[in-house]
Amino acid sequence: MKVDWEKLPANLLDLLLDGVFPRHCLACGRDDQLRDGQVCERCLNSLVSTVPFEKPKQLDSLIIGFAYNDTLRPIIHHYKFHNGTSLANLLASKLADRLKELNLKFEDSVLIPVPDHPARRRERGYNPSELLAKALGEKIGVIHSSKLTVRYRYGHHQSLMTPDKREKLAKDAFQALPPPNSDFRAVIVDDVIRTGATLNQLAKTLKKAGWKRVEGLVLCG
Ligand SMILES: [Zn+2]
Repeated sequence: MKVDWEKLPANLLDLLLDGVFPRHCLACGRDDQLRDGQVCERCLNSLVSTVPFEKPKQLDSLIIGFAYNDTLRPIIHHYKFHNGTSLANLLASKLADRLKELNLKFEDSVLIPVPDHPARRRERGYNPSELLAKALGEKIGVIHSSKLTVRYRYGHHQSLMTPDKREKLAKDAFQALPPPNSDFRAVIVDDVIRTGATLNQLAKTLKKAGWKRVEGLVLCG
């Protein structure tokens, strides 16, 4: 039988290929002991803490789980740009373990993912920060909400922009609702921090909306 590969749906093709070729770790390419079928234990256990990062001034505190190194880079790339939604659970688990190690608790907090512009959200089909916040919230028992903030501005390929351009784009990019309870802390959740401009602007917007304390919690940077 002649197979027209072009016409096979992507997931069926994946299934067929998995049967013939085992999956490989997204980070190192090996095919042994993959967790969630995507990353090997060796890579997961090799994640390291990051070097100190200058806290964006609007944030009251900033926690970065891991260094954005050669192990995490391909994993995050897959998560953000190749429909890697199933990685959210794995990444949230690693971050939850890290928070436990650091003995950090988030009482009276709401996890707020960095919002995507609606056009970007439609284009990608999901918001990586939102999936991470949801999975993390469920693991550490903290509420999360993606309905408290909106993003108005959006630029393609922000990762390729100069810090100045990112700063400009982030300015006045968001709107936020006030806290449901005045004692609640906002904990902004994101997957990667580069310059901190986005977190800084979102924190500023939340403070203007009445949140007294705004913290940042990022998977890697
Ligand atoms: Zn690996």
